[in-house]
Amino acid sequence: MIAQKYKKMLDGKSVIRQLAEFATERGHEIGYENVFDYSLGNPSVPVPKEFTQVMIDMLSSKCPTELHGYSPSLGISSVRKKIVQSLNRRFDMNYTENHIFMTSGAAGALAHAVRCVTQPGDEVLTFAPFFPEYRPYIDLTGATLKVVPPNMEDFQINFTLFEEMLTEKVTAVLINTPNNPSGVVYFTETVKKLAEFLRTKENEYGHEIFIISDEPYREILFEGVDTPYVSKYYDNTLSCYSYSKSLSLPGERIGYVAVNPTCVDSDLIVSMCGQVSRGTGHNCPPSIIQLAVAEVVDLTADMSVYETNMNLIYDKLVELGFNCIKPGGTFYIFPKALEEDAKVFCQKALKYDLILVPGDSFGCPGYFRMAYCIDTEKVKRSLPALEKFVKTEYR
Ligand code: PLP
Repeated sequence: MIAQKYKKMLDGKSVIRQLAEFATERGHEIGYENVFDYSLGNPSVPVPKEFTQVMIDMLSSKCPTELHGYSPSLGISSVRKKIVQSLNRRFDMNYTENHIFMTSGAAGALAHAVRCVTQPGDEVLTFAPFFPEYRPYIDLTGATLKVVPPNMEDFQINFTLFEEMLTEKVTAVLINTPNNPSGVVYFTETVKKLAEFLRTKENEYGHEIFIISDEPYREILFEGVDTPYVSKYYDNTLSCYSYSKSLSLPGERIGYVAVNPTCVDSDLIVSMCGQVSRGTGHNCPPSIIQLAVAEVVDLTADMSVYETNMNLIYDKLVELGFNCIKPGGTFYIFPKALEEDAKVFCQKALKYDLILVPGDSFGCPGYFRMAYCIDTEKVKRSLPALEKFVKTEYR
């Protein structure tokens, strides 16, 4: 018999993917340039030219068996060392190579981190709104994802509800700042308060409660916004990073887990990640991409377009009367829909070739997400469509 667990999951396919497929089909009918596709978080800016040059140089000068050979299971040592130097300099940390585990993007990092700090039956808490893929990431490990309802005022942490849900069964808390889908960046005060809460509960329950900090948007911050480096505030932290967004490299599948040196068993966790990889078969990320990112470890793509797009969309949404928190980073915005059921709202938007994603799967019904990692020219052309949609359907 085929695996019933995965068969059942076929009924719960990603809404985001389905909308993206719809956008592609619609594009075949009217030209994709006329579809205002705000569905997918696929970076729209090119990888830095330095990265491309590094690849060209490596391909033309380096030994092919090194470039295309197996990576050591924990990642290439020289690459991990370069990542360490960068993190220690930027965030005043004391990582060594033994605290870094190379993965296939943030998804791979999360898959390893969760397996290292939970047992089947444990609970992992996250905060709405949250990235819907957390469900399969966590639930397939045997641990259970529980979602703390959102703080509607500012999408920071709802500490009252968090306290109620932080039972003895919780062994990890998964946070994501800057956040997909809200674009909200946690204040330092929020992270400090979270850390204090967890330390108190660790003492009370007599076991560790790890923070798994999902940070693929760490570098996408708008003017005047600063994001706290979570590990700095809490010892038992595993940071999950990805170059998918910061370098516009999602297809290359590269990222890492960084284990805080002051975390319990920090000397073991990276080696344990290597054992997780053996079991899941997601081992040895491509050598060539590891070597290339190590050469541009402090660079990012030119992401200024995201802030330009955000300002255009935010101003228009406000003008049209939407209730919306201004994003501090990422390339997402998460306004309240103009009717209770955001699925109906997003369905109506399709008539105007606006592809918006309902907030239900992000744990926030009544809201919708726009991923504005698209050309600014298209954003500008979409605004009259947005206005027409609102004025026709809701006035
Ligand atoms: N976490 C969040 C919040 C994301 O938005 C994404 C991708 O969109 C991921 C993790 C997975 O990132 P990656 O493509 O690097 O695996």
